[in-house]
Amino acid sequence: MELAALGSSSVLRDADVMTSRERSRQARFRGLLIVLVVVGAPVIGRTAAGVVRYVQGNYAAAAGDFHWPHPGIPSSFLPYVPGLLLVVLLGFVLGGPLLMAGRSPHVLYRPEEIGIDLSDVVGADVVVEEVVKTLNLFLGHRTFEEQMGGTSRRAVLFEGPPGTGKTYIAKAMAAEAGVPFLFVSSSAFQSMYYGQTNRKIRSYFRALQRYGRREGGAIGFIEEIDAIGAARGGLGAGPGREGIAGVVNELLIQLQSFDVPPFSRRVRNAFIDSINRWLPPSRTLRKPVLAQANFLVIGATNRASDLDPALLRPGRFDRTIRVDVPNRVGRRQIIDYYLARKAHNAELDEPGKRDNLAGSTFGYSPVMLEHLFDEALVWALRGGREQMGWQDVQKARMTEELGLAQPVMYTEAERRTIATHEAGHATVAHFAAPGRNLDVLSIIKRREALGLLSHSGAEERFTQTRSECEGLLQIAMGGMAAEEIFFGEPGTGPSGDLAGATRLAAQMVGSYGMAGSLISLEASRAPGDLVSKALSDEPSRQAMEAFLVSAREGAREIITAQRHVVEALRDALLERDELIGDEIAAVIQEASERGPDAAPGPASVIDVRNPAPDGEPPVRAH
Ligand code: ADP
Repeated sequence: MELAALGSSSVLRDADVMTSRERSRQARFRGLLIVLVVVGAPVIGRTAAGVVRYVQGNYAAAAGDFHWPHPGIPSSFLPYVPGLLLVVLLGFVLGGPLLMAGRSPHVLYRPEEIGIDLSDVVGADVVVEEVVKTLNLFLGHRTFEEQMGGTSRRAVLFEGPPGTGKTYIAKAMAAEAGVPFLFVSSSAFQSMYYGQTNRKIRSYFRALQRYGRREGGAIGFIEEIDAIGAARGGLGAGPGREGIAGVVNELLIQLQSFDVPPFSRRVRNAFIDSINRWLPPSRTLRKPVLAQANFLVIGATNRASDLDPALLRPGRFDRTIRVDVPNRVGRRQIIDYYLARKAHNAELDEPGKRDNLAGSTFGYSPVMLEHLFDEALVWALRGGREQMGWQDVQKARMTEELGLAQPVMYTEAERRTIATHEAGHATVAHFAAPGRNLDVLSIIKRREALGLLSHSGAEERFTQTRSECEGLLQIAMGGMAAEEIFFGEPGTGPSGDLAGATRLAAQMVGSYGMAGSLISLEASRAPGDLVSKALSDEPSRQAMEAFLVSAREGAREIITAQRHVVEALRDALLERDELIGDEIAAVIQEASERGPDAAPGPASVIDVRNPAPDGEPPVRAH
């Protein structure tokens, strides 16, 4: 293999792993041939002679050739057979679990049954690039060792939130490399018998070595490795009775210890040893050096910081690949990937719709996106359709994010108050933060929210300006301001909004330095969260109050000036319970065009065909 190929950005096809596999395949054939020759030759010879004699008519001699003697069981032994069988059976029942308890708990996947490869890992280009580099070193390990003197990496850590594809990528790696994949979950190592957890770890690594030797390489995957590799505390409380320290030590030993030679090698070595005992030191027979088995262990964890630092040192899990939730571009690729595999109508083929969905699913992991489409298919089925459409995806998104709708019987007055409250939020959001997309406006109860406005930034952004924060505060106050203006007093509805607004105000004052003082309360090590720190400091408390009061004034001004918009949204909500995306924008636009003095017309039914592009984290006002 060419050394330069090791740096390739695509997976190596003709690498050392393939050469080793071919070599062990040929060795297997040679072994079979030897067995056939040694054991099979006399049988074949005698049978052939029998056939020849039979053809010549010498039947008696031929019968002798076909008759094979068997040892036979002495009749005096027969009465003991049932008792013996019982003892064997009892031994199996009693001793079996103990013997099995130390077996490696992995599940084996052969490359041909994995069914995905790296081209199926979408929306994670940086990770795939890193993974290909690691894979190429694994595939070309011998060239790397022999020509460059490098030591191949035996362990890699995948760190990232659940559902981001850590197992999926590891499986794809095994499929690309054409090697067995040994999946194990950390909890499977734990055992009720003393010492068995460590034994299981040893068995697992031995299985990796065995497959690595037999098939040129093997990839092991330990899910939630933090459960067995957590930092060793002084108390020793951990999996099973061994304690965390013992388990971590075992892992460390296995990652760095010498390989256990395979059985045939051990027999050969024992034979050479027994001969060498008779020979003078200068004449002793030499034993061939055992090459390291080629395997790669991938540990997956949500929190690498919880792992014992010794596990992360060089030669162990010294490389961490961060697998994160995808960004907007990644989400778009994942949406394309799954829509190509799931029944959908032409509406979902529009690039604008797909972009919109990618924008409004900030924070979604690939598995959440996949699940979103499955949920949308269920909505389609419920509606008697065989393909999902845009509305099904939107409904699925709300179920995913906000929980199932739990319609309750509001009184007529209550319904009106909730609709006015939510319409207030939406109106302020539209006028105070024109850059935001209004995704959902609803008066259907979901979890603890009686109604809600879900809105998100038009772009995927990770920072906000002070005026954007002030805009968010105003949106939060929109519900309360509407209740005050329309009914003369607020009700209990705004409690959730006020809690959210207080938290944001505390951040603006104590963390972002937006209130004049540059002192960060976050830097203080005093107990309590940011809100309690800000509230216990009088100037900060006053600054927070000022932000909140000014936000309420701003919201009141908007609602007074745009009363007709609030009324239009309220009426649309009373009529339809829920407005999604463009439906909200259309009601606002129609009311704005009609102006404040026009008589309120019937709320129109809007065709949601081309919603505005949505963006990052949805914010909800209840
Ligand atoms: P983790 O191990 O990080 O918890 P998984 O590997 O189990 O997550 O991923 C769950 C599922 O999500 C996978 O079976 C796959 O269907 C889907 N998935 C994850 N990452 C991707 C990706 N990059 N592209 C396509 N599908 C993905």
